[in-house]
Amino acid sequence: MAKVTFIGLGNMGSPMASNLLKAGHELTVFDLSASAVETLVAQGAKTAADVNAAAQGAACVITMLPAGQHVEAVYLGEQGLLQSLPEGTLVIDCSTTAPETARKVAEAAAALRLRFLDAPVSGGVGGATAGTLTFICGGEAEVFEAAEPVLKGMGAKLFHAGPHGAGQVAKICNNMMLAILMTGTCEALALGVKNGLDPAVLSEIIKQSSGGNWALNVYNPWPGVMDGVPASRDYQGGFLVDLMAKDLGLAMDNANRNHAPVPMGSLARNLYEVHAHQGHGKLDFSSIQKLFVD
Ligand code: NAD
Repeated sequence: MAKVTFIGLGNMGSPMASNLLKAGHELTVFDLSASAVETLVAQGAKTAADVNAAAQGAACVITMLPAGQHVEAVYLGEQGLLQSLPEGTLVIDCSTTAPETARKVAEAAAALRLRFLDAPVSGGVGGATAGTLTFICGGEAEVFEAAEPVLKGMGAKLFHAGPHGAGQVAKICNNMMLAILMTGTCEALALGVKNGLDPAVLSEIIKQSSGGNWALNVYNPWPGVMDGVPASRDYQGGFLVDLMAKDLGLAMDNANRNHAPVPMGSLARNLYEVHAHQGHGKLDFSSIQKLFVD
């Protein structure tokens, strides 16, 4: 099994790193949060004083950071991690960023003869915990193949979307659709409940009908309808509203650059920006339900 360094132990990174340990990889972790690091160390991971020290001797480095600026700071910043890695190191960024960020890091990595892959994920915290994430990769085919063994320790489905940045393009399209489905689901549930329907009964009916979709079927946004989802624990954990708003911003920037009409996506973005502005940025993205009932 490979010597892997994992950087960014948040809602997603922490369970992903746990699964790498379970898969038998020799793991070193780093995060700015000491408590996040402690949790992984208690499970058998090593740690180090900083990102560069943590990556020493690693055959593969994985990052799972909030956004593009964090990715650029870690890889390309003053003490840029890329420069400290030996030739041939596999570098996998699983964060969701702009495709341009992935291409910029890929270019810098290529100049140093490192093997870079953008590999954003889908499946949420549930998928990260269960080890069933979908990895959506951009980069060279040989690098994608080289990354397969380590990615399979954290996910069930691996896709090679195309060259550098293609993983991020596919991920941004997916999340724009997810935001549209989630806001539409919340709108429909709120309308039914306003008419006196039980949200659990209405959910079951739509699930078995043509309105069924991922947001409703496995991530029900109405509190108390489904066990184990953020809506049933005050929208704590999961995928933050701030991160969904970030992803919708990436989609809108990309659409403007490509002159693509995205009316549904821009409406969903507006709703998420309003919701974040109302103080809900740190809640799970299914909390957009509140916008339709409060
Ligand atoms: P998070 O905010 O929970 O975790 C990010 C972690 O990165 C934090 O622990 C933070 O301390 C750490 N960090 C930030 N800067 C750092 C640095 N310089 N060095 C080391 N650690 C640093 O975010 P998350 O929910 O885990 O999401 C991570 C990425 O995955 C995001 O790009 C998000 O869009 C994407 N994503 C999230 C989900 C989800 O359901 N949460 C699903 C798919 C994709």
